[in-house]
Amino acid sequence: MTAEKHAAAGTSGGPLGIYLHIPFCERKCRYCGFLSFVPSAADQPHRYAQLLAEEMKLHAVQARAWDAKTAGETATDACGRHAKGHGRQPVDSVFFGGGTPSLLAPEDLLMLLDQVRRCFPLTDDCEITVETNPESLTRSKIEALLAGGVNRFSIGMQSLRPASLAVLGRIHDRERALRAYRDLREAGAANINIDLMFAYPGHQAAAWQEDLKEVVALQPDHISAYSLQLEEGSAFYRDYKAGRIDLPEDAQERAMYHQACRFLASKGYAHYEISNWAAQGKACRHNMKYWRMRPFLGLGLGASSFYQSARYRNFADPARYEKALLLERLPIERIEEQADAAAADPLPGLCVAAARNPEPLWIQEDIYCMTALRTRRGILYAEFSALFGEAFAAVYDAVDYRRWIAQGFLEETEQGLALTVAGIDRSNEIMADFLRESAPQSHAAESERRTRR
Ligand code: SF4
Repeated sequence: MTAEKHAAAGTSGGPLGIYLHIPFCERKCRYCGFLSFVPSAADQPHRYAQLLAEEMKLHAVQARAWDAKTAGETATDACGRHAKGHGRQPVDSVFFGGGTPSLLAPEDLLMLLDQVRRCFPLTDDCEITVETNPESLTRSKIEALLAGGVNRFSIGMQSLRPASLAVLGRIHDRERALRAYRDLREAGAANINIDLMFAYPGHQAAAWQEDLKEVVALQPDHISAYSLQLEEGSAFYRDYKAGRIDLPEDAQERAMYHQACRFLASKGYAHYEISNWAAQGKACRHNMKYWRMRPFLGLGLGASSFYQSARYRNFADPARYEKALLLERLPIERIEEQADAAAADPLPGLCVAAARNPEPLWIQEDIYCMTALRTRRGILYAEFSALFGEAFAAVYDAVDYRRWIAQGFLEETEQGLALTVAGIDRSNEIMADFLRESAPQSHAAESERRTRR
């Protein structure tokens, strides 16, 4: 890859998103394969919050050092790329995800919010989201979070049917979920997402319709609806492998998906991503960064980042994560692997490491196609050129995506290429066509996992 190509790539620019992973849950749900666990000691969430604050501080210190080093220099680094460190890169979205961020004590959440503000330059209109579960969302916590500047809440409701909540192994009941929503509204929360799940063992269209109707009647600003995925390591996975549970047939799962699409559209929600619907102006800014190849820093256990066109992942092992921070090193897998090389550098931070490990441009392009196709806007030719410095048609000329257009699964306009409604049902096959090799699939899958709960 040439320096010119790096210079052309624009995925480094634009405001940053910051993701903070809170890996604790009160109990593991039966379908869950996320990096989350029950705290092993009462003070573990508090100690973890302090580590997370330390990680933010390290990023800020290293970014400032990088900025000081590059101040007054040309606007490109040794690889010819945009060299602005994240100390000077505005942040327009912060997302506390998990796990269950609302499990943290209000003072720990507020301390983390303060630390985000101290370490990163947030824009005035920064979207600040906290994922919550009904059982840990108290009125006092809500008020503290609103006072601290949180302006978007996501509730892991999944269902309002008692039988469904029991099947899924959720800890909350219907009344608790409704109360959490009511408390949020009464306290003044103006942007609320509700997460729903469908097509799990025993789930029927009638129960799904009841959930959709009841949730829409609450008038949330945003709805995410995901069908059950069998996640390795989950209780459902073990039960399925042992023949103890059946899953709905594919046709039934697709029918439930289209049932949601029809109903939510009839209620005025814009279907802006395969599994996400929003009221006017309420699409999730943070998640759009994953789908449209914008930079984000992932902080906390197992969190991944896409920064300066390089991709990173933090240690998922709590002991390694903690050890790196105690040594005042970023807990990033690849940086630690290259610790010897980094130690020789006076600035062994993310900016330096990113300059050494850019993701090849062709992988970035393939991932862009896969993730952008998840959105209603799809692949935008002008955006593709702006991001990668190449014309989409020239890059994908040899890829036989036009057969999907001929069959009515992809729609091409002058602006770009998007899935049709029928195409959503074939999205995995269509997206796979844009992979010129198999390597990027895991990254695209990661983007999809990030936006699920
Ligand atoms: S699904 Fe969400 S709430 Fe349930 S265990 Fe997993 S991360 Fe925790």
